[in-house]
Amino acid sequence: MAPNADGLDEPYLVCLGATDEIGASCHYLQIDGTGIMLDAGADPEEEGRDAVPDLHFIKDRTDTWVDHVLITHAHQDHLGCLPVVIQEFPHVLVHMTRATRDLAGVLLPSSARLQARKQQEGSTSADPLFAVEELDAYEYLYLGHHLEFPFELTGVRGRTPIEGRLWDAGHVLGAAGVEIEVEYGDEVRRVFYTSDTSMTAQAILPGGSYPEGPIDTLILESTLGGDPEAEQFTRKSEERKFGEALKETLERGGTALVPVFALGRSQEVLAMIDRFKRRGIIDDETPVYSAGMMRAISDVYDKTRFTTPRLNEDFEVYGVNQKRLPRGQNGLQRVLQEPGILVVSSGMMFERTISNKLAQEMVDSEKHSILLVGYAREDSPAARLLESTNGAVVLDEARGAQPLNCQVGRFRFSGHSHRRDLLNLVEQLEPRRILLVHGDANAREWMADNIKFFNPDAEIEVPERGKPVRLFPAD
Ligand SMILES: [Zn+2]
Ligand SMILES: [Zn+2]
Repeated sequence: MAPNADGLDEPYLVCLGATDEIGASCHYLQIDGTGIMLDAGADPEEEGRDAVPDLHFIKDRTDTWVDHVLITHAHQDHLGCLPVVIQEFPHVLVHMTRATRDLAGVLLPSSARLQARKQQEGSTSADPLFAVEELDAYEYLYLGHHLEFPFELTGVRGRTPIEGRLWDAGHVLGAAGVEIEVEYGDEVRRVFYTSDTSMTAQAILPGGSYPEGPIDTLILESTLGGDPEAEQFTRKSEERKFGEALKETLERGGTALVPVFALGRSQEVLAMIDRFKRRGIIDDETPVYSAGMMRAISDVYDKTRFTTPRLNEDFEVYGVNQKRLPRGQNGLQRVLQEPGILVVSSGMMFERTISNKLAQEMVDSEKHSILLVGYAREDSPAARLLESTNGAVVLDEARGAQPLNCQVGRFRFSGHSHRRDLLNLVEQLEPRRILLVHGDANAREWMADNIKFFNPDAEIEVPERGKPVRLFPAD
């Protein structure tokens, strides 16, 4: 029996998560009897079942199943639904880097606790997707791989041998691109899935390192494809501006709030603060506070520093002198009385998170600063802060508008490759067929136009959610 979905009787890919925005990443491959899932993300903007990719595509057919799941990295939009996929397909094997496996051990239980708490508080009516107690049992299915070593991916009903290999993707600790090699007929076909990728070095992690081309099919992220500004900022000049902003805040006796994502950006920011202290840009004695789950994640960064790619393996996130942010209103008030730096989540300052609560205490004072270092989705409190033009901002709907007198700064430290880097990647990998994912319509259109311009012979397709497309090139 050949795989057959919507008339396609050859290997195909179908996107089960959102494709026209940054939602849940989840792509299903059916290759000659083997079912492979690339990422099992949850949509960070949805709750409960609404956050889950469309697994019905696989469940509703008799000719589709999942043998293997590959998780490229531990961000919610790539990892968050893994327990749901295991509930639905209990015989799967799950492949990831060892560092991602360690991070999943921190992030999935934390996600389960958060879902339960939201339901208890009544902030959502959605049932939690999974409970902390069941996660221990799932960990036996997680296979941690070294970078660049091949592993078996042929499914139990697979008619053709398939091998996988993970390559360093930069981005965040543990992040990997996936190479899949298929013995197809008399030929070997190579597929590469970049997932989220950063080809340039950040403060802790070096840029990604990918295989040489030519390959047959490239599944390419296009997050920054629609962003003409991203390529105009250099990390060096942004880092200098960020250091200056911290210095000015501290000199006027204020506190700098740096809202961050717990995985990736928070550790990178702490590494930059460490550099600023060493170079004398800010005083070595300046107190730095961190809080919550990012501390557990920093611990994984430090434990894996000799076994994962690093710019400097001697650097430890916990080597950066930092205090745990005190709990409770009084503790926070005390912290704000002396100059200091607060590195806390969430990055977009969502209501009821620590960064939002702190910002409410800080916005009306001229001496403080809020320094934004990551992506701020439209309508998030962080975006409202950046876009305010009337001297007021709504951080919490319940509280309403507050006077905005503090300094607000924005710095472009992306964990994603900008679009010129993505084009260079296409040049390196020399794919004959390119499938564009993980970017809004605008981003994917720009990428498609430019790839066509430089590689007129390449087949380019922009898959729609739930619609299978050929995996291999036509000839
Ligand atoms: Zn990511
Ligand atoms: Zn992502």
